Amino acid sequence: MTRYSRRNFLKTGAGAGAAALFAGGLTPRSAASAGSPAAAPGTPRVVSSGNGIRATAKAMDVLRAGGDPLDAVIAGVNIVEDDPEDMSVGYGGLPNEDGVVELDSSVMYGPTHSAGAVAALRNIKNPSQVARLVMERTDHVLIVGEGALKFAKAHGFKEEDLLTEKSRAAWLRWKETMSDRDNWFPPKTESLPEDLRSVMSTHGTINCIAIDAAGRLAGVTTTSGLSWKIAGRVGDSPIIGAGLYVDNEIGAAGSTGRGEANLLTCASYRIVDAMGRGKSPEQACLEACEAVVAKTKLVPRLCDDQGRPNFGLDFYALNKKGEFGSAGFYQGGKYAVHDGVENKLRDVAYLFKRREGDR
Ligand code: ASP
Repeated sequence: MTRYSRRNFLKTGAGAGAAALFAGGLTPRSAASAGSPAAAPGTPRVVSSGNGIRATAKAMDVLRAGGDPLDAVIAGVNIVEDDPEDMSVGYGGLPNEDGVVELDSSVMYGPTHSAGAVAALRNIKNPSQVARLVMERTDHVLIVGEGALKFAKAHGFKEEDLLTEKSRAAWLRWKETMSDRDNWFPPKTESLPEDLRSVMSTHGTINCIAIDAAGRLAGVTTTSGLSWKIAGRVGDSPIIGAGLYVDNEIGAAGSTGRGEANLLTCASYRIVDAMGRGKSPEQACLEACEAVVAKTKLVPRLCDDQGRPNFGLDFYALNKKGEFGSAGFYQGGKYAVHDGVENKLRDVAYLFKRREGDR
C-alpha cells in the first residue's frame, strides 16, 4: 500500500544501506559522447537536462536570430513550464504535501555576473521570468514565498491554479496511500492507473545553459521541486552555486535531482570552479558526483546495500570554449545538447553501472 511513498523508499534504503558501504573505489565511466569538441569560435551551444530537448531547440533559434543567451534559455524552459504534461516543472507540476504547487527557479547572467531567484512561489507558472525580474529590477538575489508572489503580481503576472487534474489525482493517490494510521482510506483499486504510473516520481526539474556566438554565458533552472514536500521547502534549483552557477570567464553548470544532496555540496559552484582549474565539463561533473557520493556515505538511510546513493542527482556543464558534459551516479541518463549543428539527447557519464534488477 505504501509502495509509492517516499518515506517508505528512504526506509528501504536505510535498512539496506546500513550494512555495507560502497567498496572498491569509483570507476567513473565516460558517456559514449565524452570529450565534446570545443566549438568553432562563434558557434553558439545550448545544454539542458533530458526533458529539455524542446528547450535547446528553442534557445538555439533565439541565439541564431542574434538573441541574448538569457532570453534564449528562458524562452527554452518556458515551453516546459507551460506544458501540463511535464509534471516536474511549472504548470501541472506535482504539488507539496498540502496539494499546493510551489515553484523554485534561478537565472544567472555571465556578462554582468548577476543572478535572480524565487522560491516557494505559488500560482505563477513561469517562475524563471520572475527570477529574471528579481535580477534585473531589484537589488536582491532571492525572494521567497508570499513576497515572491507579491513581487510577481506587482510586475503584472496573473495568478492561476497550477494544479492540473492529473497532478491533483497523483497527489490524492499519494495522500491516500501514505499511511494506514490516518483517516484517509486507501484507493479501492490497489493498482495504480496507467496514466499516473509514470508521474508518481518525486523528482524533476529543467536546467538550461547556453553560450552565444560572442561567448556570453547564461543559465536557468526551474522546477516544482520535490513532490509531496513540506510546504515552504526549498530545493537546490533557486540557490545560486547549488542548482545553477555561471562565471562568464569559465563556464556554466546546473543540476537536477535530489536538491538536499546538492545543497550540502554546492555542486554547480564546484563544477565551474573545477572547469576554471582545467577540468573538462564532464570530468568536473563526475568529480561533483564523487563528492556527493562521499558525503552520502555518512547517511545510511540515503544509501543502498552497496553504500551508493539511493537517489538521483545529475549535473550539466558548458565551458567558455563551448565544450559540454554531464554526469550522474547511474548509467542510463540522457541530456539534451544543441551543438550548433544538431539537437539531440546524449548519454550522461556515470559512476556506477546499474545492477541487475535496478530500475
Ligand atoms: N532539484 C529539485 C529539487 O530538489 C528537484 C529535482 O530536480 O528532482 O527541488
